[in-house]
Amino acid sequence: MLRNTKIVATLGPASSAPDQILALARAGVNVFRLNMSHGSHDDHRARLSAIRQAEATLGRPIGVLMDLQGPKLRIGTFKEGPVSVFNGQPFRFVLDPVDGDATQVTLPHPEAFGALQPGHHILVNDGKLSFHVEHVDGHTIHTRVVVGGELSDRKGFNLPQTLLPLSAITEKDRKDVAFALSEGTEWIALSFVQTAEDVRELRSLIGNSVGIVVKIEKPSAVDQLEAIAELADAVMVARGDLGVELPTEDVPVVQRRIVHQCRHLGRPVIVATQMLESMISSPTPTRAEANDVATAVYEGADAVMLSAETAAGSYPVEAVQIMDRVIRRVEGAPDYRKVMSLDHSAADAPDQADAIAACVRKVASLLPVTVSAAFTTSGSTCLRLARERPSTPIMGISPRLDTARRLTLVWGVVAYNGPDAENLEDMVVKTTFCATKLGLAEQGKPMVIIAGVPFGTPGATNLLRIVYP
Ligand code: PGA
Ligand code: MN
Repeated sequence: MLRNTKIVATLGPASSAPDQILALARAGVNVFRLNMSHGSHDDHRARLSAIRQAEATLGRPIGVLMDLQGPKLRIGTFKEGPVSVFNGQPFRFVLDPVDGDATQVTLPHPEAFGALQPGHHILVNDGKLSFHVEHVDGHTIHTRVVVGGELSDRKGFNLPQTLLPLSAITEKDRKDVAFALSEGTEWIALSFVQTAEDVRELRSLIGNSVGIVVKIEKPSAVDQLEAIAELADAVMVARGDLGVELPTEDVPVVQRRIVHQCRHLGRPVIVATQMLESMISSPTPTRAEANDVATAVYEGADAVMLSAETAAGSYPVEAVQIMDRVIRRVEGAPDYRKVMSLDHSAADAPDQADAIAACVRKVASLLPVTVSAAFTTSGSTCLRLARERPSTPIMGISPRLDTARRLTLVWGVVAYNGPDAENLEDMVVKTTFCATKLGLAEQGKPMVIIAGVPFGTPGATNLLRIVYP
């Protein structure tokens, strides 16, 4: 049985040998994530080459998503190792370099000093510690500790209520973008997006050659979700940082809203972080974690993601196997289609391709269709089809290898890199050939094909045909 919901797995020290990457792909990874917050370009180049080898070995396209570090804020260092701060005590963040102690530490980010207002909160170390801003004078932020704990070198620093005059693309990110372009990854993920302008900035650097995944991990990005998602090619619900900046109880509600909105816009959406967190050190997940994966599947997300579980955990392959099994079990459950279809909505300004995709959904609900095939150059026709969440697998046939690889992230799509159809007869021959090869053809059962005629004209979807193998 094919899976609709895709698996994204992050590579790291626990999973970088070529045989480990092959084992992860065999276990069901559709897209690998290279996390630029860690590792050198040489490390990532070696991983990429192992992914391309695994792709050749398995004979199916595999996508690569390069995730930029973005402007992650960090505090400075402490003179004598970690310190403890206690609830109610004063504490200072200073711009100038100082030896940190239990009363102050450096914050080497000038933008924060102009933007913070009295009453704002500062979170440190994934939100474990919290500080209340009392006043800012010049190069010093005076705070009081709300939730104390241990502070140590270069811990992450979050400002949930503060819009920083900061681009989402740092100098390091620019180098990483150049690297991604030269190595040819299919997706680039943009971290800590605050406004639509951040997405425009990346677009001006890379054009449409690479897909942009926007990571929603700031409340300001949630507020401008629609504008941001419209400009992007895909969206990630980045619950790691988002969960730090939002109250815990908001996370499930916001996740659902983002997935719903992305499905409406036809943007692939990834639910990420802590999905099987306990599997970093345990061969089985908690039942609540299995439920978290299931929730994303029922919501109709395109993909679910593993981070530390595969990058740094002791059971990377097992994590993928469990995720694969939970997804299949949910997708085979009697109420799956009904629950997932509740969130289906018609496109706002439908065009020809949307109309034809909606017809495919209808045809597949009336006839025992085994596969819906789309001939697609840029992948756009396939995305319209996936937007409909039809009850059949979607076979995306593209003459472009980068398109086929990009489509591996998309709900329900089995991507196939093969030549475009030359005429109507050839279209049927090629569909039958691919469907047979992928095990999606059945004697006497219909297959649906959509395409744009004349062939090879991008964006001209105007044909739906029902054929029998
Ligand atoms: P990260 O992004 O793993 O790069 O931090 C994902 C998240 O914040 O959830
Ligand atoms: Mn993050």
